[in-house]
Amino acid sequence: MTEFEIIRRFFGTPPVQRTDVVLGIGDDAAVLQPPAGHELILTTDTLVEGRHFRPGEDPESLGHKSLAVNLSDLAAMGAEPAWFLLSLTLPQADEQWLTAFAGGLHALARRFNIQLVGGNTTRGPLSISVTACGFVPAGQALTRRGAQPGDRVYVTGTLGDAALALWIEQEQHGRTPVDHAAAERLHRPEPRIAAGIALRGLAGAVIDISDGLAADLGHILESSRVGARIDLARLPLSDAYRRLQTSGVVGWDLALAGGDDYELCFTVPPSREPELTRRAAQMGCACTLIGEIVASPGLVLTDPEGRRYQPGRTGYDHFAD
Ligand code: ADP
Ligand code: MG
Repeated sequence: MTEFEIIRRFFGTPPVQRTDVVLGIGDDAAVLQPPAGHELILTTDTLVEGRHFRPGEDPESLGHKSLAVNLSDLAAMGAEPAWFLLSLTLPQADEQWLTAFAGGLHALARRFNIQLVGGNTTRGPLSISVTACGFVPAGQALTRRGAQPGDRVYVTGTLGDAALALWIEQEQHGRTPVDHAAAERLHRPEPRIAAGIALRGLAGAVIDISDGLAADLGHILESSRVGARIDLARLPLSDAYRRLQTSGVVGWDLALAGGDDYELCFTVPPSREPELTRRAAQMGCACTLIGEIVASPGLVLTDPEGRRYQPGRTGYDHFAD
């Protein structure tokens, strides 16, 4: 297959066709019509073999995840997804691999009505970059900056499942059975788009949790110049996580610093909590109160016995070592 056959066969006619795409794949660049009165939200994320995923990773999951992590960033800004670009570096033109990869990518794109409008295809070590674009009504983007003392801190979904699955896959070698639901969270994260949109005009600060709650809430605290107190007893944990925690196999750190959760962490003033409850049905996932914002800087974690807890690790940093 030539480069152009790859583009034509697997990406040339994407399943989503939006009326705001004036010109999609096939020219030097895409031509797009943003809606009046809205701002564009742009984000990009790269998945590199050997760094973000292991050689031999299921291509269908990779297709899903490479778009999902970008949708998660759009969700954290309160954006409605619209368009995306795909830059693909492939070691070879493997038809079976490309079919599965495109299948995972296009299925998720269809669910979120986001159209592939261009990209780039090159040869080299496997690496997948997606750039996604969405809209928000002007002035309504959700940022990391608006947390205030007294605000309540919430998270969507459950924490630590992806890290738990990675730990089981990489370090347990059969000693702990793979939990299917946790493995799904690792390989096929669900972007919280509906939750992000429901939080417009309500949340003070929002971030998506990609590097672990402690690190990502830390970014809200830094940007907002505040601190937070979090009750570990309140952390939403899956049944699988709780079982392994009760039997002493795992502690708090996978939920606090494991990464790859792709849940939203957000703050809401107490006066707006009834509105949060009213919007709960729109959000498509559970929201759990885990603590509150305080004036003094720093993150204070309290364990169920009331003692201060210090995580054994911090969030993932590509250049930390
Ligand atoms: P150029 O050389 O002008 O950058 P290319 O030959 O790289 O154009 O690409 C031709 C068309 O195919 C462009 O519209 C480009 O955006 C699109 N394209 C290339 N690779 C991909 C891909 N992996 N996914 C989607 N569109 C792609
Ligand atoms: Mg060109």
